[in-house]
Amino acid sequence: MAEAKYLAEEVFDPADEYRPAPAPEPEIAAWKTGGIRIGIHTSIAGDVRRALDLAHGLGANALQIFSASPRMWIRGASRITDADAAHFRARRNELTLGPLVIHCNYLINLASPSLVLRTRSVQAFHQELVRGLALGADYIVLHPGSALGAEPAAAIGLIAQSLKQATRGLNLGGMRILLENTAGQGSSIGSNFVELRAIIDACPELSLGVCIDTAHTFAMGWDIRTLVGLNRALSELDRVIGIDRVAVVHVNDSKTHLGSRVDRHQHIGKGKIGLEAFRRILNHPLLAKAAFILETPIDRPGDDRRNVATLWKLVGKTVKATGKRDGMKARRTRYRIRIRRVAKRSRRR
Ligand SMILES: [Zn+2]
Ligand SMILES: [Zn+2]
Repeated sequence: MAEAKYLAEEVFDPADEYRPAPAPEPEIAAWKTGGIRIGIHTSIAGDVRRALDLAHGLGANALQIFSASPRMWIRGASRITDADAAHFRARRNELTLGPLVIHCNYLINLASPSLVLRTRSVQAFHQELVRGLALGADYIVLHPGSALGAEPAAAIGLIAQSLKQATRGLNLGGMRILLENTAGQGSSIGSNFVELRAIIDACPELSLGVCIDTAHTFAMGWDIRTLVGLNRALSELDRVIGIDRVAVVHVNDSKTHLGSRVDRHQHIGKGKIGLEAFRRILNHPLLAKAAFILETPIDRPGDDRRNVATLWKLVGKTVKATGKRDGMKARRTRYRIRIRRVAKRSRRR
């Protein structure tokens, strides 16, 4: 026992992340049944393990989480202990949940022209990867970054360089980094498939994948409401990036109109994209290998459960949610609040 304790202490050495233990022997994950994977972004409030039971209780068989607070720079205290990670993995295995997707902190900007902020972003992203490895994540979803006045080509170069710095010394094993397409707000990089491909090409050793968000794609002007429009978007995605790289689809309806370049998620079937479009998306043969993850709002208790149930219904299945009735607490995005504040301020002027 004394020896086991010593080993556990050694594992928590803060220097560990720079010389991680060798990756464990690969084993076939229990969740890889070949069936459709439907998940939802789930809160880690209180305990990261709680997210697993929450997702399972909502009727999901996959999930996305933040592995730390998504809007704060974390310094040091965000390490996941070996014991917590082991419990998390064991519980996830019991519930056969997968894939496990980790969404990165929103403050990370690997394209930042400020050396200070870019260095901080590289460190934070490195920590995301370390936590992802500890939890056994399958995918790490990252917004590529914002150019903030720089030329897109220069920003893409910085992103590639930052990705290489952040992954240095880590054996990612089966864990894959996915670049998410953006809604095209501000100077964000990655709103078009060509930019995502350029980042992928600049980092061949990382074998990057992509995460496609339906609301962002719609906000960027792809009219995925019709079969013709969906086919056009997917064939362009296949031509430019390759459909095999699309590992995750963020399934969100949109509050904003086609081509708005504004990112506002809505409940499935209640937004401008509409229910029938989502039926075609979920059943599209080109997306048969992707996992579908909801990032829909929770305005009223039960919205999370209802959105999960809607997706199952669209693929012709009824999955009964077994968790307690409430699911997650209502969540409002700070993004929306910030927009309002800015709007008020500009009105005063
Ligand atoms: Zn998304
Ligand atoms: Zn979004």
